[in-house]
Amino acid sequence: MKILFASAEAYPLAKVGGLGDVAGSLPKALRDLGHDVRIVMPRYATIAASNKGLGTFSVAIGGADHEARLRTSNIEDVPVYLVDFTPLFDRPKVYEYPDDGQRFAFFGRAILDLLPVAGWWPDIVHLNDWHSALAAAYLKTTFSGDARYRTIGCVMTIHNLQHQGLFGRDLFEWTGLPAETWNPEGVEFYGKMNFLKAGIVYADKVTTVSPTYAAEIQTPEYGYNLDGLLRSRTGKLSGILNGIDYTVWNPAKDPHIAARYTKSTHDRKTENKASLQKEVGLPASPPAPLIGIVSRVTEQKGFSLLIPAIPDILRLGAQIVLLGTGEKVYEEPLERLSATKTGVVAYLKYDEVLAHRIYAGSDFFLMPSKFEPCGLGQMISLRYGTIPIVRATGGLSDTVGDVAADPKGGNGFLFSKFSGPELLDAISRAVAFYRKGRGWRALQQRAMATDLSWAASARAYAAVYTAATVGNLTRSPQLRTRSS
Ligand code: ADP
Repeated sequence: MKILFASAEAYPLAKVGGLGDVAGSLPKALRDLGHDVRIVMPRYATIAASNKGLGTFSVAIGGADHEARLRTSNIEDVPVYLVDFTPLFDRPKVYEYPDDGQRFAFFGRAILDLLPVAGWWPDIVHLNDWHSALAAAYLKTTFSGDARYRTIGCVMTIHNLQHQGLFGRDLFEWTGLPAETWNPEGVEFYGKMNFLKAGIVYADKVTTVSPTYAAEIQTPEYGYNLDGLLRSRTGKLSGILNGIDYTVWNPAKDPHIAARYTKSTHDRKTENKASLQKEVGLPASPPAPLIGIVSRVTEQKGFSLLIPAIPDILRLGAQIVLLGTGEKVYEEPLERLSATKTGVVAYLKYDEVLAHRIYAGSDFFLMPSKFEPCGLGQMISLRYGTIPIVRATGGLSDTVGDVAADPKGGNGFLFSKFSGPELLDAISRAVAFYRKGRGWRALQQRAMATDLSWAASARAYAAVYTAATVGNLTRSPQLRTRSS
């Protein structure tokens, strides 16, 4: 099958968070299954484009035809189409510009406008999050009269329902979408234009990144006002767990860590722990359980719960090393705690190499998320034999099982309610388990043995693609004539 995989970020060309990891690794896994997958993304200033590219194409938006260039790159054996349009994308960052609405409306339209110059017609366009979601609306309205586009199936994956791409009606006018799409059954959402909603309404199939999150987003608690719409589309919605890239995250071959190890040599984690403690300036204490955190520092990731609990966690004799960036309201107290308390160090920056060392050198990995579509941190930590302590929500529920509930099969520690006492209780249990020693090595080995690869999930995506194309083939006038 031919799949065009659209994303605003794809590791290693551009990564802001988990979406970048997924877009960098799922296409490789689909290629391993024999599919012809190609990525399409904007060319930001940070992405080198040495070649002249495939030519120029015209993007019809904002009442004008804009000339963009189609360049190419690759992520290992996956070809990448780069939409090169200087006025909107030749900037250092992926997101957070005042004209993001225009930037990603343009991208959504360009995904379809570039196909003739690419000379490659996919069976499926797979859109990811709001940044590419508008392509679904264009495909099913503006382009529906064009036979070359009519049979293309459309799948959209929600990586985080919180980020929907909400803009004013003026942006809707600018997109040039047909006027009739401006209604609650189309792209309109309480008087605003909602990009993610466009994807949910117009895509043939909608997926999200874990089975539990697929159920949660159909409830008011997690639905961000789209739960009603999602309930009404429940038949085309499913949850497929992310995997992690085993070539990037592999303790046996990791070039960034002090001592490489496998399931049978995982005792060498102690060398990584000592090296990490030294690097970050924590007391060199092997008996002190070391808790690592690598995360965006935001409300979603549970920092309103974690920060007030830090003094209590330290009182348990644990150490904390944190790497992350995010909201000032959480960064500032973390900086203060890091400067004034022994046993906690916070690095408020983005640092791939330090992330690898924290995953390898910590005993535990903490993720007390308020909601978590899938979560990669807990999966990477499992792969490194670092025991996750997580809140039972979304993908965290689908990847971590509590040792108390399942002493022989559990691979971590869970708590349910988003509350300080429950968080502390889970950490106390984890620390006690670590101190007791019995079962600790077996737990680490079980964590490392958890299957976190993309293989099964890539097969599940392939099945969704097939289902999405079947729907379109029956709509194709050509095939209808043939079968009638
Ligand atoms: P998100 O909601 O941010 O996508 P995930 O757990 O799905 O959360 O993925 C986060 C990814 O970003 C992981 O690969 C994690 O290691 C990485 N990451 C997050 N913050 C940092 C940071 N400050 N430095 C390096 N890597 C980070």
